[in-house]
Amino acid sequence: MGTDQLLHDGHGRRIADLRVSVTDRCNFRCQYCMPAAGLPWLDREEILSFEEIERVVRVFVELGVEDVRLTGGEPLVRRDFPALVAMLAEVDGIRDLSLTTNGYLLERDAEALARAGIGRVNVSIDSLQRDRFFELTRRDALARVLRGLEAIGAHPEVRPVKVNAVAIRGFTEAEVERFCRFARSTDFQVRFIEFMPLDADRAWTPDSVLAGEELRGMIEAIHPLEELPRGPSSTARVFRFADGQGEIGFVNPVSEPFCAECNRVRLTAEGRLRTCLFSVHETDLREPLRGGADDAELAAIIREAVWRKELKHRVNEPGFRRPARSMSAIGG
Ligand code: SF4
Repeated sequence: MGTDQLLHDGHGRRIADLRVSVTDRCNFRCQYCMPAAGLPWLDREEILSFEEIERVVRVFVELGVEDVRLTGGEPLVRRDFPALVAMLAEVDGIRDLSLTTNGYLLERDAEALARAGIGRVNVSIDSLQRDRFFELTRRDALARVLRGLEAIGAHPEVRPVKVNAVAIRGFTEAEVERFCRFARSTDFQVRFIEFMPLDADRAWTPDSVLAGEELRGMIEAIHPLEELPRGPSSTARVFRFADGQGEIGFVNPVSEPFCAECNRVRLTAEGRLRTCLFSVHETDLREPLRGGADDAELAAIIREAVWRKELKHRVNEPGFRRPARSMSAIGG
């Protein structure tokens, strides 16, 4: 495929990473994402079928997408999810097929996911203390999630397995030492992700962000760190503990935006293309998909939408407009 065939936005960035939300539903109620009562879920017929997801992914791969991440809501609550993984693992051209999960159903599905061909997994764990985990997720599920982590960790073909912790001021500071011990005593890479203004309760304020650099300072006070080289379009700054005992990372979209090298777009569960996590505009792919559009027509719609991809988020700017959707309806 000639480079001019590859998907680019109007700022010259090549788009090679697609995040696919397979459901808006979730079995957790994390405070930084969803109200305690949950949200009105999409009806089954509104969300894309496995066949429709596979077709859209194929069209994106034809346009040069190489990395596909499956997200939600919580993807493992979608029935027969490993079957979708197996379908996508057959798509020629996908270099990296990965999953983001809250880990609650991972113990049940680890074997099937590894057999289906998932390449790597990120598990969201914001506290390693039972009562604090419950406080944030409104689920008493830490032990089960850790068993799920062990279960997927037992599959050497699924690597890396990372633990993502949302960093919230006034909560995460008390987790730092526990996560350091965890990162230093397991094969799992821990990453702190700055809290973003995508919570359904709209409680986010700039003050609630615990910046990556602050967290790094807290860690360096106990464990010297050495920064590792950063890959192109990588969202994380990763450090190894200077004594060689593990790695820890920081994803700082608010305090250190990485939009300049963004290579990502997103597909929502009901088939809307979002060119940025913070997009306030979307392009509907479901209607043409169900309306008989052929692959070339779908590709043209995608090209046109991606060409208009936002240069960057404007979270730190006056007049920042939050997207109408919250994180659970976008996917990480
Ligand atoms: S905020 Fe938008 S442009 Fe920036 S890195 Fe995220 S998806 Fe890309």
